[in-house]
Amino acid sequence: MFNSLSDRLTATFKNLRGKGRLTEADVDGTVREIRRALLDADVAVPVVREFTAAVKERALGADVSQALNPGQQVVKIVNEELVTILGGETRRITMAKYGPTVIMLAGLQGAGKTTLAGKLAKHFKSQGHTPLLVACDLQRPNAVKQLQINGERAGVPVYAPHPGVSSEFEEATGDPVVVARNGVSEARQKQFDIVIVDTAGRLGVDAELMKQARDIREAINPQEVFFVIDAMIGQDAVNTALAFQEGVDFTGVVLSKLDGDARGGAALSVASVTGKPVMFASTGENLDDFEVFHPDRMASRILD
Ligand code: GDP
Repeated sequence: MFNSLSDRLTATFKNLRGKGRLTEADVDGTVREIRRALLDADVAVPVVREFTAAVKERALGADVSQALNPGQQVVKIVNEELVTILGGETRRITMAKYGPTVIMLAGLQGAGKTTLAGKLAKHFKSQGHTPLLVACDLQRPNAVKQLQINGERAGVPVYAPHPGVSSEFEEATGDPVVVARNGVSEARQKQFDIVIVDTAGRLGVDAELMKQARDIREAINPQEVFFVIDAMIGQDAVNTALAFQEGVDFTGVVLSKLDGDARGGAALSVASVTGKPVMFASTGENLDDFEVFHPDRMASRILD
């Protein structure tokens, strides 16, 4: 992930090394290289345009008499602009003032929601919280079972909709909105402090999926709705993110499969086009393959 982008940018900056002063032609050449590198990494075109315009304006206006040489100056500007498009400051989860904090997961089928639910549960548990998982993906035959397996691995109980499944939390209904609502009341009654609600995805964006997710959102009024996006889907990430933003709206983004050999474009585009911060990164199939997303660290990793 990002290796090729990282190499390209490093090579570009190398050409600036040793220059006493940057001419407009130097800046133009550098910005052109940055544009190509970002496009090749699958970053969405409008994001590339905005990014390069900002870098160019700041590089031309940079005060060359400062301590940094011009090459370092450009690296610093690119770094700061990367942090900005990745969402700026690291954002922490909004916690409920009273009662359980409710976190809903939304996204396409296969994005990594059910896996993420287990990861979040483990993460919060390790911080001393008492999470409850709620299985509202009643679309995919195995999703409830898969969430139960993840819950077991994380040592976190699962509120599941099917009777007969060995769980102390059972619900005899096939309506995900009812399951979500009852799961949250269960958490309130039994004093769990965080509820993670897994929802159904479809292979593509569709109206029914959006309506169901919106209905669940309205029923449980979550503090956070995380849109989970598979970083491997490249350019499609932007349209999918915009469709979910319009259909369900979300408070934060989780990038999954960042361990894959995706070129990184989705990661750099989604926060920028939706204006919503990236909260977490999923980096593998195990529950520990997970990290809190820090825009500044990610930018430094890219420019390493
Ligand atoms: P859902 O349909 O959104 O609930 O997606 P799942 O959580 O079932 O994930 C779909 C597939 O992707 C499963 O095979 C997961 O093991 C896998 N997966 C999920 N997250 C990651 C990740 O961060 N990296 C990798 N390599 N695979 C992942």
